[in-house]
Parts: sequence; structure tokens; C-alpha cells
Amino acid sequence: MVTAARPLPRISPGITAGLPGVGRGSPIAWIGGRLHRENTDRRGGTPVSKEQDFVIVGASLAGASAAKALRDEGFTGSIRLLGAEAHHPYIRPPLSKGFLAGTAERGTVFVEADDWYAANQVEFRPSTRVVGLDPREHRLTLDGGETLAWDRLLLATGSSPRRLAIAGADLAGVHYLRTLDDSETLRDLLAGGGKRLVLIGSGWIGMEVAATARTLGNDVVILERDPIPLANALGDELGQMFADLHREHGVTLRTSVVVDSIAGADGRLTGVVLQGGEVVPADLVLVGVGAVPNVGLAEDARLQVENGIVVNESLQTSHPDIYAAGDVANAYHPIARMRLRSEHWANALHGGPAAARAMLGQSVSFDAIPYFYTDQFDLGMEYSGFGPLTRGADLVFRGDRGSREFIAFWLAGGTVVAGMNVNVWDVNEAVQALIRRGAPVDPGRLADGSIPLEAV
Ligand SMILES: Cc1cc2nc3c(=O)[nH]c(=O)nc-3n(C[C@H](O)[C@H](O)[C@H](O)COP(=O)(O)OP(=O)(O)OC[C@H]3O[C@@H](n4cnc5c(N)ncnc54)[C@H](O)[C@@H]3O)c2cc1C
Repeated sequence: MVTAARPLPRISPGITAGLPGVGRGSPIAWIGGRLHRENTDRRGGTPVSKEQDFVIVGASLAGASAAKALRDEGFTGSIRLLGAEAHHPYIRPPLSKGFLAGTAERGTVFVEADDWYAANQVEFRPSTRVVGLDPREHRLTLDGGETLAWDRLLLATGSSPRRLAIAGADLAGVHYLRTLDDSETLRDLLAGGGKRLVLIGSGWIGMEVAATARTLGNDVVILERDPIPLANALGDELGQMFADLHREHGVTLRTSVVVDSIAGADGRLTGVVLQGGEVVPADLVLVGVGAVPNVGLAEDARLQVENGIVVNESLQTSHPDIYAAGDVANAYHPIARMRLRSEHWANALHGGPAAARAMLGQSVSFDAIPYFYTDQFDLGMEYSGFGPLTRGADLVFRGDRGSREFIAFWLAGGTVVAGMNVNVWDVNEAVQALIRRGAPVDPGRLADGSIPLEAV
């Protein structure tokens, strides 16, 4: 029943075609009809040459995409890609969807074939954690004590699940989902159904795992503190659509409940205790209460850190030779004119290469429109736009909400700041173009499905 209405992961043509906004060549962008020169404070740093030593910390989507872009751009110096995990770089979206469901093969999650790294003279070092960073000396220290010199450094350290600090949180049977290993463990536990899974938190990962686990025939309970799941991201009405979807498929969604602790016996969990004393029985618990950026190295190096590593629109940190991309970067966005930290796949896919080009001295203004997607039961959707700008925005719908085939647009000051297509495909490019245009639109024409989006 997890009807991936499309293969996973879906790389939207609108997003991949030419990597929008990357390497445009000028830090001066024409935005919303005005010449815009904010925050283009690209700092000098050491002169760059094609023979230097580049190091990338974090061997996941952002890091691996950056390594590939460096070679694609003709960089002939050394590239070291250091990753704390034992695996070659892989993508995470299938870990809560097809891979967890057992429908996507392990081999489909890797960013590049295993032999790509050596073939492209990228020194990939798995199971290697960087524990120290000295920006003045241009050195970093590995967990084994070895030190490495770098001329330019990319921090692509991603994020980690927020841990639950309640009694019983360390009992056996309490799980988090971030890595391939986490997903493999959960997949084996959920396969065949019949388990009582309790999810704490109804964010994207919680909701996706709920859909997958339910489809496999497990009893699924979601415990959510807020009255409506995903309302923070989508607002009440669209959050309620996801609530209805899950309930229709037999998920028990309990909102406005507060988890007090996790009960156990002999070191293993037996249930989740709510405030008030009720115990929700469980065989396993998945905690999905958000993620935190891995900023430890950046803090040690005294880089500017504020909800992630602060970078300008060239993805350059407060140190001129250090860059950051992916989940960990809080980047100035030249269209939204604010800093954004995006915990989504497309941001890592495009941010890594953008940082790579900036590291090579190219003039980069990373202005890709934030994008993500989800698949839950028979609902697939893509979202593009600037979440923070949707607060208080007007919602305009095109299509049929009843059958869950529509596009929702968020209009702030008359302009489209975000759009979400639900079970409607091949419109993402047009939705992003509307956002990028930044000009007022007629809500009536936007809602009128007979008018092509390109003509609104
Ligand atoms: C289960 C799941 C499902 C998801 N589904 C979707 C989806 O449907 N759509 C979507 O858009 N996004 C989704 N995401 C989010 C998306 O996967 C992330 O945005 C993306 O993985 C970010 O990539 P990244 O390279 O920035 O960081 P990460 O993928 O977090 O990788 C960072 C890497 O750096 C390593 N590292 C950290 N510190 C160090 C260190 N000191 N030394 C060495 N290595 C280090 C980590 O071990 C990790 O391997 C999902 C995430 C998860 C967990």
C-alpha cells in the first residue's frame, strides 16, 4: 500500500536540470524586479589552484556530490572524503520508505558505485571520524590521532536525530532512524507484521515509517504533542489531510498527548507512559522528534554557528577556506533574503556541488528553491518553497482536495512563496518558476486548472 506513485528517489527534472542557481557567474542577482546586492560578502581566503589538498568531512549526499562536482569541474588536486559511517555514501529517503518496506534493494541507495571513488582519485575513508579542527593551522585530527592538512575544507556533517531525554529512553526496543544500519534493523523487526510499533512524534520521518510499518501489517500508534501532525510545516488544513490519510489506513493517531517516560521490564521496553499515567503497550518504539545539526567541529573551530553552521550564499563559513553544505549549513538564500537551514535531500544534492564550485574560486550564488517530497500510503507529494515565509500566507488550491489530487500555493503579499503538488506530477518546474519569479499573481488564475501554470 505504500504506493510510491513514482520511483524513489524522484529527482525532479526542474531541480536537476542545470542545477538551478548554481554557478550563475554573478553574485548580483535580479530578484523581484530589483537589483539585489545583499550578503554577497565572499571572503578571500588563500588563493586556489587545481593542485591543492581538499578535504570533505561527512561522506553522505552533500559530501559525495561535492567530490563528484570537484572532479567534474576539472580539479586535479587531492580530495579526501572522510566519513564516520562504515558505508559508502548513500541517500536516506528510502530508509523510511522503499528500503524499510523491503521493496528497494540495498544497492539502490548508494550515491555512486563503490569503485567510482578510487577510479576518480577520491580518497574515501570510511569509519573515520574527525574529532578536531584547527582552522589557523589548516589541519584536522582524526579519531585515531592522525592529523591531516587541507587547503580548503568542506563540512558536510549533516544532522543527527534529537534524542529523547526521558526515563526509559535507553531501554532495548527504543529506536531512532538515521542510518542504513538503523533502517536495516527496523526493516527486519517490522517485516512480516504483527508488531506493536509506537511512534513518538509525527514529523515526516514518523509519518513515513508509520505508513510503511502499517502497510507491512503492524499495529501502529503515533503519539503527537500538537493537535495536528505536520501543522508546523503545512498549516492545519493540510496537516489534517495527512492525519485523515493515516487514520483511514488504520493507524492510531493520538494528538495533544505528552509522553512522560518509557516503561520496561528486564531492560526491555513494554510501553510508552503518557502524562496522566496511561501506558500505551509497545513491542518497539521509534523516536522521531526532529534532528539537530552536527556542529561540534565548527564550534570547536570557533566558526559562526547559529542553528547550523552559518554560511553566505557561496556556502562559505566565517573562515574563508572552510565551506559547509547540506543539513548542517544555515545558508543565506538570495531569493528568500534570509538564512535557511534545509534538512532535505535536494539541498544536499545541489548544495554539495555549489560549495565545490565556490571552493574552486567560482562565483556562486546558491539560490535553488528548497524542495522535498514524501510518499505515504497512496499519497505522494512534492513541496517547493520557503517554509518560514508561509506563516500567515493565503492558501490557494488548484485541483480536487477531496480526491487528494491538487496543488496548494502559499501566497504572501500576493506572490507565491511555496507550492505543494499532491498526486499531481510534472508540475514542479512550473511551481518553482512561479516562486522564483517573485511577482504578484492573480489567485483566481492560479486556482483555475484550465490555465497552464506557465501562463498564470
Ligand atoms: C529516514 C530518513 C528519510 C528521509 N526522507 C527524506 C525525503 O523523503 N525527502 C527529503 O527531501 N529528505 C529526506 N530526508 C533528509 C535527507 O536524507 C537529508 O537532508 C540528507 O541526508 C542530508 O545530507 P547531508 O549529506 O547534508 O548529511 P547526512 O546525510 O546527515 O550525512 C552526514 C554524514 O556526515 C557524517 N559525519 C558527521 N560528523 C562527522 C565527523 N566528525 N567526522 C566524519 N564524519 C562525520 C555522518 O556520519 C553522516 O554520514 C530523510 C532523512 C532520513 C534520516
